Amino acid sequence: MVEIIETVREMQEKADALRKSGVSIGFVPTMGALHEGHLSLIRGARSECRSVVVSIFVNPAQFAPGEDYKQYPRDFEGDCSKAETAGADIIFHPSVEEMYPPEASTVVKVQELSEVMCGRSRTGHFCGVASVVAKLFNITKPHRAYFGEKDYQQLVIVRKMARDLDMDLTVVGMPTIREEDGLAMSSRNAYLNPEERRAAVVLFRSLKDAGERVARGEKDAEAVIQGAREMIESEPYTSIDYVVVVDPETLQGIKEIVCPARMALAVKVGKPRLIDNIALHPPS
Ligand code: AMP
Repeated sequence: MVEIIETVREMQEKADALRKSGVSIGFVPTMGALHEGHLSLIRGARSECRSVVVSIFVNPAQFAPGEDYKQYPRDFEGDCSKAETAGADIIFHPSVEEMYPPEASTVVKVQELSEVMCGRSRTGHFCGVASVVAKLFNITKPHRAYFGEKDYQQLVIVRKMARDLDMDLTVVGMPTIREEDGLAMSSRNAYLNPEERRAAVVLFRSLKDAGERVARGEKDAEAVIQGAREMIESEPYTSIDYVVVVDPETLQGIKEIVCPARMALAVKVGKPRLIDNIALHPPS
């Protein structure tokens, strides 16, 4: 049976006991509403670590005012059984009060990386993410922590935070899991109505097309971006936030694609704002 832990103290004691007995801890932070994307992270942790901790916490600090914190899908019972089947040993499920006592006043800010891409339109988002992930690392004390490439900017920021703050753990990036038609799995896909759901496939289609152009030798990032924008704009219900081609580590925009790069986009499809990204590989 999966063990459910709700307090910081109890989770830390459990992690200490596991570490003392030489058990490796794999950690998968989530906001719940688990789908195959999350489950692939849990399975990855299961295959590499003796004990697997999954956190389920909808983190208010990473939602800006007016975003979907209140409506965010929640299904704790369903999540517990899915996580257990995928291989979780412990579910850490704290309350907001447990994570953010009123006297708390410390945040973690990863500069530069947090200001580009999603950081432009989601003020404070990555500070909320970095702060909660730092806390969760201190609470669950993992040897390895698993994050999806689906949220590529988040993965890069967490890696940088762990390196900059000398956190003694390995951040593992896992590939994006997609629906059959290519749409990246996301808890927010549940907000799409059937017509928006059909239109949303264009996100991956445009990225895939860009990837193929680059593999055939297109070097001009602006041309690749423009091609993707036109494809997306030709679908109804879409409104582009950004389409970028960036250095995979610094997330700074690049002009000439002569080394492996990352293409990322954020697009509103109806109301929901969806993100996706792929690796771009120029011919060698
Ligand atoms: P979330 O619950 O949305 O905060 O996501 C928790 C973790 O699951 C993050 O590391 C995400 O990047 C990862 N994740 C979400 N969707 C996917 C997906 N489609 N494929 C792989 N990982 C994912």
